Amino acid sequence: MPTRIGVYPGSFDPVHNGHVDIIERCCPIFDEVVVAVLHNTSKEPLFSIEERVEMLRDVLADNPGCRVESFSGLLVDYMRQLGARTIVRGLRAVSDFESEFQMALMNRRLDSRVETVFLTPKEEYSYLSSRLTKEVFLLGADLEGLVPGAVLERMRQRMVRD
Ligand code: ADP
Repeated sequence: MPTRIGVYPGSFDPVHNGHVDIIERCCPIFDEVVVAVLHNTSKEPLFSIEERVEMLRDVLADNPGCRVESFSGLLVDYMRQLGARTIVRGLRAVSDFESEFQMALMNRRLDSRVETVFLTPKEEYSYLSSRLTKEVFLLGADLEGLVPGAVLERMRQRMVRD
């Protein structure tokens, strides 16, 4: 039987518990989950691509079915290289729907074999975004329970250094 690979793409700048919740929900569905960190040239990231991959690998070290990679260019091209046909995205609220719907249809237009599936996180993470965690952190908020401990430590170090 072919390996069922789920690809979860995103910026993950940084990974937070909403992302981790979605990844953990993926694990029983797929034989392998590839967390694909996007080289996004249009955003000014807090963490480099290498740092984001490293943090995700650290956080997911106990999930043997998960692999963390980075990619650039079209997601469908990257998926072809992997031999994967399923994209996983998280839906937090209705506000995510429109852009996610457009992206799912575009990806299917670019490769008709590709399907997107949507998973919803635990309610307590449904308001979380990387942008918001960075914003409130810089203003002194305590992110305990919202981002993994190792990530929080890196954010603290980054703030001291910058
Ligand atoms: P963010 O929106 O936090 O910056 P990304 O751009 O890295 O995150 O998003 C990667 C995927 O994770 C997207 O499908 C996004 O909808 C999903 N996602 C982000 N935050 C959450 C959350 N709190 N719960 C569920 N899914 C989420």
